[in-house]
Amino acid sequence: MLNVWCQNMSIVDEIRCSNCGAPLQFSPGELVATCRYCGFTQVIQTGEAFEFEHSFVLNEYSQEKIDELVRDWMRGGFLKPGDLAKSSKIVEKNLIYLPFWLVSVAANSSYKGIFERITPPVLKEGKIEKKYNWLVLARKASDFPTREYEVPLEGKVPFDFRKVEGFAKVLNSEIEKDEAIDMAKQQIETLHDFLAKQDVDKIVEMKTDLEIGDTVYLHAPAWFIVYEYKGERYRIVLDGATGAVVKGDIPSTKFGLV
Ligand SMILES: [Zn+2]
Repeated sequence: MLNVWCQNMSIVDEIRCSNCGAPLQFSPGELVATCRYCGFTQVIQTGEAFEFEHSFVLNEYSQEKIDELVRDWMRGGFLKPGDLAKSSKIVEKNLIYLPFWLVSVAANSSYKGIFERITPPVLKEGKIEKKYNWLVLARKASDFPTREYEVPLEGKVPFDFRKVEGFAKVLNSEIEKDEAIDMAKQQIETLHDFLAKQDVDKIVEMKTDLEIGDTVYLHAPAWFIVYEYKGERYRIVLDGATGAVVKGDIPSTKFGLV
């Protein structure tokens, strides 16, 4: 533990914010860092200003309000133990602004395939034409459920470090823009493949054209909550913009006599 801390300190000593001169805090593997003192966002390796639009979505909930939302969630839904809200204790509650790349993509696919659900099977053609604001989480190792999460883009404003709560953490990006675009492309192709397979049973030919538009770097607020129930710990991820539970662990209900 001490070792890691020392390593981090030595990096911090070497690199300073190129805007205000304050020590820049980041961890190994991070590529883009936001200064916690002046909000300047820069590329760590070069110290140059980050050239993309940097937006964020505001957190709308206080720590107290989060407790209420968690209790409401615990009380709702039929799969939860009846005493969950009453018998649980919230032991951790962290607000983290997660980094995302938001890639706007126009994706057009055309495909040919065999429709086998009728006899005789027929050759069928189809098109998928879509526009996406595709979200790529800019962290390599993360258990954040990106698929279950929709960034409330209506609330997107230019990044302003003064609006970041003192107790919140802003995570830096570990993924470069080009890598994020590649990931978005791959994921969209997989999705279109899946969609085509709903329409035909066997794909014979598939072509997808992807046109990449603007790419925005975005921080969005998520609350990472740990609660204790009957001696076990469970986790909840809550969207700080909408208050919705993105994912929550539920203790398994034991039936019969306990
Ligand atoms: Zn600074």
